[in-house]
Amino acid sequence: MTSVELLTRPSSQDVQSASLREEQLNASDSSSPKEFWRKVLLRLAPTISEPKFITWFSNTTLLNLENGVIVVGVPTTFAHKMLSEVFHVKILQAFQEIDPNVREIRYEVHSSLAQKGNSQIIEVRDIIAKDKTVRKIPGVPQVNLGDGLKSRLLSQKYTLDNFIVGKDNRLPHAACIAVANSPGGIYNPLFLFGGVGLGKTHLLQATGNEILKNFPNKKVVYLTSENFVNEVVEAIRRRTMNEFKARYRKVDVLIVDDVQFFGERATSQEEFFHTFNDLYDANKQLVLSSDRAPHELDYMDQRLKSRFGMGMVVEVLPPDFETRLAILQYKCQEFNIFVDREILEFIAHHLQRSVRELVGFLRQIVSAIELQHAVPTKEELRVLLSRLHGVQLKEGDVSNQEPAYSKKTSEDFIVAVAHYFKLTRDELTGPDRRKEIQIPRQICMYLIRQELNYSYERIGYEFGGRNHTTVLHAYEKVIEYLKHDSRLVRDINVLKKMLYLA
Ligand code: ADP
Ligand code: MG
Repeated sequence: MTSVELLTRPSSQDVQSASLREEQLNASDSSSPKEFWRKVLLRLAPTISEPKFITWFSNTTLLNLENGVIVVGVPTTFAHKMLSEVFHVKILQAFQEIDPNVREIRYEVHSSLAQKGNSQIIEVRDIIAKDKTVRKIPGVPQVNLGDGLKSRLLSQKYTLDNFIVGKDNRLPHAACIAVANSPGGIYNPLFLFGGVGLGKTHLLQATGNEILKNFPNKKVVYLTSENFVNEVVEAIRRRTMNEFKARYRKVDVLIVDDVQFFGERATSQEEFFHTFNDLYDANKQLVLSSDRAPHELDYMDQRLKSRFGMGMVVEVLPPDFETRLAILQYKCQEFNIFVDREILEFIAHHLQRSVRELVGFLRQIVSAIELQHAVPTKEELRVLLSRLHGVQLKEGDVSNQEPAYSKKTSEDFIVAVAHYFKLTRDELTGPDRRKEIQIPRQICMYLIRQELNYSYERIGYEFGGRNHTTVLHAYEKVIEYLKHDSRLVRDINVLKKMLYLA
């Protein structure tokens, strides 16, 4: 059993779907605007949630490309607002990845785009479908494997490579790799158990995906115990029990998630018991998960409990601080955002119970960035944490040991911004209105307002007695720039980091 611990694997960030996308990108012809736009959409799709992508990118098209200036056509003023204000940076990045000469994007509303049958329109649902697994049947939540066998979809987003491994979850991960390399081998059945949101479903689905990668012809079925119960009930109702039994004997790998949900269903348990035995005897792989250890499954048939424990039983433990931080960092890359390490540490420190909670919280931050074009401050995060997760800061929290942001003054900000833009303090606060000085000045005013919450009057005073409307104007201007200028987003992030750490 301990030999599993020795199994390791380099964790590359490859995602199969990425290479799939690459092929599609190369395969298409970039000469026409429609194909160019298709390429851009293929790049955008994985970075934006599916409902948002469908809502805002349907009926859009590329109208013109000239001298690095792109004109994108959108069907409504709403779409115009969303693309130009919320998704602009992502769109620009996607364009520049394909053609570095693209400098500028303009958006134009053409209501004719909303009409059906426009040949310039790319069906965004096709883009999403292409972006997903080849096993996916659009709109159908399960896969037909032939012989009447169906599997709930194995989502390609779960892989063994993108499961972050730390000291406490090394064992279940290694066991899954062993099973994926040799299904029906010595770790049979593999039984993973542990609390909610710790990655059991991820590991089960990833194991299924990995087996299919290694053995494309194997029939891999993933379902929850509830799905199994429903199928049994249905088969009884339709009097097709024999077909049901025969069907499951054809499976090579049966993955059943959340077996605790068999509950007291004696008939279903009985049926599962027979399926289990037949598959096991035929050296077929079984992978199971539950929220508790086999012997603690109160309503489970004694014979099943003992079978669950026959192979390898591994607990999935909550990840330690380093692993939580690594998960957050990985997810930031995946979401294509930059968040200061200090903020990530802050989150990893406060959300300890479940990875789902952790990733969910990061998603909130992503939405905040999309809407406000700035990473929320620690103060804002504190409020969010206590509102969403009831987290109250305790004595001795990391956040309290560090120099508090609130102890900083506008002078710290002025010095940092001047240093960063290689200006003197007097240049930054003085009257010079040349652009290379004016913009850093506006950034500095913005940061002081945003981070220290100084009044416009007070900031004006710090900058050589300027009028508060000048400061307000600067503040609004920077917010406006942030919507379009990814370099500025980076500058601000770096500056915040400098100020946090100083
Ligand atoms: P469970 O089935 O145990 O309730 P899930 O597998 O649904 O938990 O995990 C919840 C979320 O956390 C999923 O999005 C999953 O991808 C993610 N997750 C959990 N553990 C890890 C990990 N070690 N590395 C990366 N993502 C993880
Ligand atoms: Mg689960």
